[in-house]
Amino acid sequence: MKTKYDVIIAGGGTSGVSCAYIAAKSGLSVLLIEKNSYLGGAITSSLVIPAMKTSENAINTDFFNELYKNLSEINGAITYCDGNKGWFNPELTKIALDKMMLDTAVDVIFDSYIADINTEGSQILSVYINTIDDNNRTCYYQELLSPIETRYLIDATGDAKICQKLNCEFLNKNFEIQPTSLRFIMSGINVEEFSSWLMELDKDRDVTTACKIDGYTYCSTAYTWDNSKWALKPVFERAIADNIITNEDANYFQLFSVAGTPDSIAFNAPRLLHNESYMEGRARVLRLSLFCRNYLKGFENAYISSIADSIGVRVSNRVKGKYIYTIDDLLTSKTFSNPVVVSNYPVDIHSKDKDSSTLQKVYKEYQLPLESLQVDGYNNLFVIGRCISTDFKSQAALRIIPSCFSMGEGLAKYLANK
Ligand SMILES: Cc1cc2nc3c(=O)[nH]c(=O)nc-3n(C[C@H](O)[C@H](O)[C@H](O)COP(=O)(O)OP(=O)(O)OC[C@H]3O[C@@H](n4cnc5c(N)ncnc54)[C@H](O)[C@@H]3O)c2cc1C
Repeated sequence: MKTKYDVIIAGGGTSGVSCAYIAAKSGLSVLLIEKNSYLGGAITSSLVIPAMKTSENAINTDFFNELYKNLSEINGAITYCDGNKGWFNPELTKIALDKMMLDTAVDVIFDSYIADINTEGSQILSVYINTIDDNNRTCYYQELLSPIETRYLIDATGDAKICQKLNCEFLNKNFEIQPTSLRFIMSGINVEEFSSWLMELDKDRDVTTACKIDGYTYCSTAYTWDNSKWALKPVFERAIADNIITNEDANYFQLFSVAGTPDSIAFNAPRLLHNESYMEGRARVLRLSLFCRNYLKGFENAYISSIADSIGVRVSNRVKGKYIYTIDDLLTSKTFSNPVVVSNYPVDIHSKDKDSSTLQKVYKEYQLPLESLQVDGYNNLFVIGRCISTDFKSQAALRIIPSCFSMGEGLAKYLANK
């Protein structure tokens, strides 16, 4: 570890790893500080897969392509039948990211967080780092007793924890929330049998798809209690009547095969309300797994193989930046001189109430400007990921994994060229 870096990034999640990798590849010295014992953030700790498909004309895709390449080499990524390369294996993503950081000489410290920040006016000067497990690590991280200087500080914590520490201004309002989810994976599934049964049952092929890749069947489907025409609705209704699951357990159910483990399926469920805990989440996971075993073909011998370490958070804090990006900017495809993201992903707002979730299609590509990553009131403080400077609705489109990768990479390239 050094005593001075070009870039210090708090948070080695989706946007943080992209920024760290590209910044280091572009010649900057980078320190990446992660509170978990592995990188990847939502992808690895909340089991969020796959990265959603985005526009043909997406910019800042070098990191995505490199991750895909590294994962493919260890059987940890597939290209799905719709051409989406974002089907990653969460466990193998941890390993691929370790290698990518080592390859580019990013200094990574795990189980750690920024405890204090030295500033002078609007300039960040240095940070103090704490390890979560101080007793065991003080010898290992002797250097951490002194402040570490940085030219740029980047908040990639998902919840803008660094900006909170600095008492920055926030844009979020209490009522602007979306449910969270505690995702899980089941294994021991006969995916071929399940997908032929489902494809036969479900004529709405928009959401239900299956294909063979390297001799194995991969599939996906989605259901929300807002959608009256979905084929699995009667199956859910039967399970509710049989007291296997509750009405709320059936509020959202989406599944994707997992790259590299062809007998496994990852669930974007259960969806939780803000006051529901991990315990309630895990109880829901158990009920949903019993539902799968008893009501879905191909799941007879299936079992829970993984429950996410962290609840997946769709929206939390949004920091006020030099530019506040709005839903009008997005829907009118406003252009900017320094875009960091180009996408056409829909505005995806989950609601806890029945018939209230919306998925608004976007017909033209939109751009996110660099200025939405520059924290208001500071010269060298930036924010990336789901907590950037946007209004509630545009965040609901911009938070997907490829856009978080893209903003991390766009910022890294900007800093390298300054
Ligand atoms: C339930 C759910 C389903 C989703 N489904 C999809 C999907 O199918 N496809 C898709 O493309 N997108 C999906 N998304 C969106 C996407 O996964 C996230 O918006 C995106 O990954 C967020 O990236 P991030 O960099 O902001 O945060 P994260 O990836 O969460 O990274 C934040 C990192 O910061 C670390 N951290 C936090 N605090 C500190 C601290 N104080 N010090 C150091 N480190 C810290 C965390 O441990 C974490 O590693 C989904 C999101 C959710 C919640």
